[in-house]
Amino acid sequence: MPFSPKKPCAYPGCGVLVDRKHAYCAKHERERNAGVNANRQSTDKFYNTQRWKKLRAFYRRQHPLCEECLKEGRVNPSIIVDHIKPIKEGGSPLAWDNLQALCWSCHSTKSLNDRHRRGRGESKVQRSQ
Ligand SMILES: [Zn+2]
Ligand SMILES: [Zn+2]
Repeated sequence: MPFSPKKPCAYPGCGVLVDRKHAYCAKHERERNAGVNANRQSTDKFYNTQRWKKLRAFYRRQHPLCEECLKEGRVNPSIIVDHIKPIKEGGSPLAWDNLQALCWSCHSTKSLNDRHRRGRGESKVQRSQ
């Protein structure tokens, strides 16, 4: 049997000895993973809540047409309800005035612009008109 050195779990105050390749004991490793997953899934969870589904349905009933297309004089049915300021950027998930009804085309354009904007570090949408 080769000698395998052990070191204490990296969780403050834990002190359980673990194999060198693990930074945490089994219990704290599990807790850490659970925390990371909870963060990642919190937005997904929101989109599954009844509150959001009701708000979205109600908003679409009021805005059956894509709002971006209407601004350009086009008439397209809205497919999705989008957050003007994304939740992950601190936008309010249930605020009526943070919502807009979009068609797929406008939604994918907006997602692209958002990524572009963040890349250049600008905070406002540039409009050519
Ligand atoms: Zn531990
Ligand atoms: Zn549109």
